[in-house]
Amino acid sequence: MAGRLVIIGAGVSGLAAAHAAAREDANLEILVLERSQEVGGRSTSMNDDGWMVEAGPGGYLDTEPEVVRLVREAGLADRQVAAQAAAARRFIYRGGRLHRLGPGLLLPTPGSLLGARGVLRAMREPFVPRGAGDDESILEFCRRRFGARIAERIAHTAMLGIFAGDAARLSVASCFPALREMEQEHGSVIRAGLARRRTAKRRADEETDAPTRKLASFQGGLQELPRALAANPRIDLRLGVSVTDIRRDAAAADGSGAYVVAMASGETLVADAVVIATPVQGAARLLGTLVPTVGDLLAQIPVPPVVVVGLGFDAAAAAKFPLGFGVLISREEGVRMLGCLWESHIWPGRSPDGCFLARAMFGGRLDAQVSELDDAEILSLARSNLQRVLGVDDAPIFSRIVRWGAAIPQYEIGHRGIKAGVEAELDRQPGVFLAGDALEGVSFPKTAVSGLSQGRRAALYLAQTEAQRASRAASGDRSAG
Ligand SMILES: Cc1cc2nc3c(=O)[nH]c(=O)nc-3n(C[C@H](O)[C@H](O)[C@H](O)COP(=O)(O)OP(=O)(O)OC[C@H]3O[C@@H](n4cnc5c(N)ncnc54)[C@H](O)[C@@H]3O)c2cc1C
Repeated sequence: MAGRLVIIGAGVSGLAAAHAAAREDANLEILVLERSQEVGGRSTSMNDDGWMVEAGPGGYLDTEPEVVRLVREAGLADRQVAAQAAAARRFIYRGGRLHRLGPGLLLPTPGSLLGARGVLRAMREPFVPRGAGDDESILEFCRRRFGARIAERIAHTAMLGIFAGDAARLSVASCFPALREMEQEHGSVIRAGLARRRTAKRRADEETDAPTRKLASFQGGLQELPRALAANPRIDLRLGVSVTDIRRDAAAADGSGAYVVAMASGETLVADAVVIATPVQGAARLLGTLVPTVGDLLAQIPVPPVVVVGLGFDAAAAAKFPLGFGVLISREEGVRMLGCLWESHIWPGRSPDGCFLARAMFGGRLDAQVSELDDAEILSLARSNLQRVLGVDDAPIFSRIVRWGAAIPQYEIGHRGIKAGVEAELDRQPGVFLAGDALEGVSFPKTAVSGLSQGRRAALYLAQTEAQRASRAASGDRSAG
């Protein structure tokens, strides 16, 4: 036996870690401990009488070759679905009306959202000199490269929609490292974007695991991936097990195991290596007892709440939703809804025939107080906001509210320092690995990639430890002989 790996958390990152470890080493004992009664974590797809509401992510951008391979190995390649064509139509609500955005958010209808002056300024981007490379906010980066109108009217609104975050505080280097690289390498985001599109197309023609670069999900929703990964017979999955503490094993010196993992039930088990794949605040607590500096650093990452409201409508109301992906709301409008996704236009099969499912999002970095509202208040807020933005005044025939007390970590200015500090400390802590959305990407595919990478590292670490142990035993035998 090459050792026992314990993974804490059965969201997509924890299960991807387990998958990678199993792929790397056929002899490893792999245990996944999950607090709740099902796998998936934030990627939970809830079915209710023909309505399918995603509690968290509705889809993911298929850009990671490693995720393409993971999906294939999980047996889900045939169950993957791409967003419908209507999803290319995206809107921003500003100045009391909807504005349609062009592809990639950067080509808005001239004269509408930006005005001719704003569009002309954005087109000058290829001629704007490179920045100094400091840790800069997304708002500042966009203002410098594309002008104030794109920054304030699009970037600010889009960051509320994508990260539930504040563009004035989010770090461009940490949230969109590719944008920074594009500026540094090509001197222009637009020029680099065109060059990258050509390379991606060439790669897509040549490689088997080339991503589609489209918004994707699975027929039964995103939870299909964690569920399929959990079915791997190599993984010993234990549900309803909440880990409370991880400590170094006093017996580790004699090689009987490195860490003692304690559970809420009072049980303990010994692990040769541990991957922590819980959300940030849980990782801060668990790592806090083991490496207090890491606990302190992780606790500095803000993770604001988000409330997701699934609203189902009949056919008469359905006709009032414009064809498209959904709408993001400009902050100045005084509307609390961050945005609304038109699920039935994006994905097939998420509402009963002829009906329409929308998902409205509230909360985030600029409105954490929304979690103080009770369900009736949230529902009434969602209805009044939909009426104001889309003129939909019909009563929903279905509703479902999901509250995330801590939804999406915010990589704000200074995040690079937190990440470097955590990684340096963990490098000095043999056998402890951190997967998930704490450091290097908050999206479903990025957390899957972090799981794959930490699972692989853990398996390699255990193989090395095993080899060292074997060689020590062999030299002991020789000297004894
Ligand atoms: C509202 C919302 C919308 C989102 N939209 C998108 C989107 O459109 N596209 C996208 O790509 N991403 C989106 N995301 C982000 C995406 O959900 C995450 O990146 C991804 O789900 C994180 O997966 P994970 O496995 O790291 O964490 P999780 O899914 O949170 O899994 C962690 C698991 O650890 C378990 N756990 C926690 N503590 C313990 C403990 N002490 N002991 C045992 N188990 C424990 C939890 O129960 C959970 O199952 C969204 C997130 C939210 C909240």
